[in-house]
Parts: sequence; C-alpha cells; structure tokens
Amino acid sequence: MRRSLCYNHSVITRNYHTHTSRCGHASGTDEEYVQAAVRAGLRVLGFSDHAAYRTPMPRERMDISQVGEYIASVSSLKQKYAGKIEIHLGMEVEYYPDQWDTLREYRKNLEYCILGQHNLSIDRDSVYGLCERSQLIRYTDCLEEACRHGLCDYIAHPDVCMWSYPLLDGSVREAARRIAEISVRYQMPLELNCGSGVRHMHCYADGDRYAYPTRIFFEAFAEMKCPVIIGLDVHEPALFLTDKYLNRALSVVSGLDLNILDNYDLTAEAAKRKKLFF
Ligand SMILES: [Zn+2]
Ligand SMILES: [Zn+2]
Repeated sequence: MRRSLCYNHSVITRNYHTHTSRCGHASGTDEEYVQAAVRAGLRVLGFSDHAAYRTPMPRERMDISQVGEYIASVSSLKQKYAGKIEIHLGMEVEYYPDQWDTLREYRKNLEYCILGQHNLSIDRDSVYGLCERSQLIRYTDCLEEACRHGLCDYIAHPDVCMWSYPLLDGSVREAARRIAEISVRYQMPLELNCGSGVRHMHCYADGDRYAYPTRIFFEAFAEMKCPVIIGLDVHEPALFLTDKYLNRALSVVSGLDLNILDNYDLTAEAAKRKKLFF
C-alpha cells in the first residue's frame, strides 16, 4: 500500500536526511531505503550518511575505507531507479577544522552536505552531554563557522544541543536566537528533525519533553522567518512508511508560523554554495 507523509495537507515529496547501515547504528540495505521511499511517495531521496574522518568511530559514523563503496552504491541506485525516484548523494558532516582535508574531498565529490554537529571537536565533547552555557556557545560557534566557510547546505537538528541540557533557561533562548540570526545571514535552512529526539519523552529539571525539536528554537525561527526543511533522519527503511515521528515533531511546533520550504531544490542550491567553500 502506498503511504503518504503529509504536512498541512501537502504531501512531503523530498527527504535529504537518510542514513545507511555503514554508520553502525542504522539497519537495512541501501536498496531497501530506496524501495521504502518510493512506496512512501517520495520523488527526491538524498542519502546523507554520517561522514567518515581519519579516526574510526564504529557506532557513530562510517569508516573512511567505506566511503568509495558508499559513493558507488548510491550512484548505481541513482541509475537503476532513474524515472522512479530522483536520488542524490550527500553526507552529514561536522565542522571539524582539523579534518579539513577530508571535508574538502566530501565537498568536492558529493552533491550536498548537511551539517549535523555531533561533537564540539572531533571525538570530544559530545553534543549529547552539554549542560553549560559555555558549551551552548561553542556549539553555536561551530554552526556559524560551518556556514561562514560554505561547508554545508542545511543545518540538521540545530537544537540537538538540548539532549542533556537541563532546562530551558536564558542561555537556550540566546542560542536559539543566534542560530536564527546565522540562518538569516547565510540564508541557511534549518531542519525540523523527526529522528532520535522524538523517539521518546525525556525528563528534564523543568518538565518532560522531547529532546529535539525544541519549541523555543522554532519560536525564534518563526519570528525571524528562517527557512525550515523537514528532515526524516531515517535510520531504518520502514521509517519511511510511518508518520508517527513526523507528527510528533510537528506537534512540538504546532501553531507557529514557520517558513517551511516544501519544494526546496537542495542540490541546485548546493551547487551554488560549494563555490563559497572553494
Ligand atoms: Zn545517526
Ligand atoms: Zn542524521
């Protein structure tokens, strides 16, 4: 049965945030992701698995030795499914200045990059453990530097820094506001993420909520009319066939007047942005 993922009665036809089993915490074959996306009615499917760097991190990202095979696999599916679905080759990268040689290769060889800043520096200070204002500032600095260098084409889960942050204080509002300003300055889309953050409710010092999306961020994004893209952040093919997590993410932002881009051609924009990088 064909299923459709909808937002405000319009069908979601693009997803640029899709993983593969290479990252060590996703399941299924690449082709199963494509087949599920076709069944879900998607017209555009972007693969954006977690980028490899010089040091291995088997449960977090693909190994550098797998990059060639990842590119070959996605490229061959692109050919095989031409006419059924438009497939694009990307990666989810971090701003790690000491990995610049590797990042430069990705920016050159891939159609697009999304920024999912998972650590404040490579293999150190996971964003899933932030609890101080100074760390939120460093997190936001990474986002700003990535945009300034033209490293990325949208910011995935801009509010991932909230995973462990204990409460919604002034520092959170400050971070949200700054990210909104960065988005406006660089015309950088921000993602409403439907992945791990909405898998279950988390208990914080000031109440229970999903870790991310976090409403305070989207209030700032709505106020500043930032471009927003819905990203499914799929780590399992079957997740294309349920709207459960999409609806949870949408419930967090209900009533906000968000500037959601339905038909944003990310790869066309990426082709322009890349010129900034080089
Ligand atoms: Zn992941
Ligand atoms: Zn992701």
